[in-house]
Amino acid sequence: LPTPELEALQHADVARLLPVPAAESDKYRRGVVGVVAGSARYPGAAVLAVAGALRGGAGAVRYVGPAGDAVLARYPETLVHPGPPGRAGRVQAWVIGPGLADTPGVEDVLASDVPVLVDADGLRPLDPAAVRARPAPTVLTPHAGEAAALLGTAREDVEARRLEAVRELAGRYGATVLLKGSTTLVADPDPDVPVRVNPTGTPWLATAGSGDVLSGLTGSLLAAGLAPRDAASTAAYLHGLAARRAARGAPLTAHEVAEALPGAWRDAA
Ligand code: AMP
Ligand code: MG
Repeated sequence: LPTPELEALQHADVARLLPVPAAESDKYRRGVVGVVAGSARYPGAAVLAVAGALRGGAGAVRYVGPAGDAVLARYPETLVHPGPPGRAGRVQAWVIGPGLADTPGVEDVLASDVPVLVDADGLRPLDPAAVRARPAPTVLTPHAGEAAALLGTAREDVEARRLEAVRELAGRYGATVLLKGSTTLVADPDPDVPVRVNPTGTPWLATAGSGDVLSGLTGSLLAAGLAPRDAASTAAYLHGLAARRAARGAPLTAHEVAEALPGAWRDAA
């Protein structure tokens, strides 16, 4: 039989993939996430990415950037570092991009030998050759506008052919690509692997900052050791469930999505 082009992650797959700490686990084995996000203009993006990583089960989160005070005010658990990212100490996965504005640190993070998730402003200067040359996996999480900029085309063009666009990006960058939107798609760099469609999305997620939460959440699953395609699709699944729980048919904020993640996790486990 030919491999199907698309597949949906099932409840049973998510239940199997969710990392459960072993009895002898410690915070390092559960996964340390490094978050490079936020700027003087967008400090909240750093808070939301850290929230996603902490609520996504990271053993610890290291934050590098100028929004350390805002992050600590909300999440005193965070380890704040002045930077650059290369000096922050060992991490098992990096998340870079939400609210970065002028994109410092992208090259530094790409040079690391652990999985890296690039989102938002981090995607702007992204060189396919630099990503392809990485010794560890890379995950890109563009929305349609960011995907269009990477492909040198118009947003409407991406929206009109989302499946082709996500596959093209995954091939060009040699990366796992999660294309956000009304139906979130996850493409593997291997073109023979089916694209995953997320079944849990809700349009209540179309609210400022919800993508930043998804970045941190995906980073925590990468740090826990999930394969990039599993980390991205499991994160999208939980993110949608959390939004449904938090919204219950009414408007929600991105921060509430992050705080609903433990409940979504319990439902999915
Ligand atoms: P961002 O554009 O980075 O803020 O991320 C927005 C988040 O909301 C992503 O997880 C999208 O997949 C999700 N989202 C946006 N619009 C919709 C929609 N109409 N239906 C479902 N999910 C959506
Ligand atoms: Mg975004």
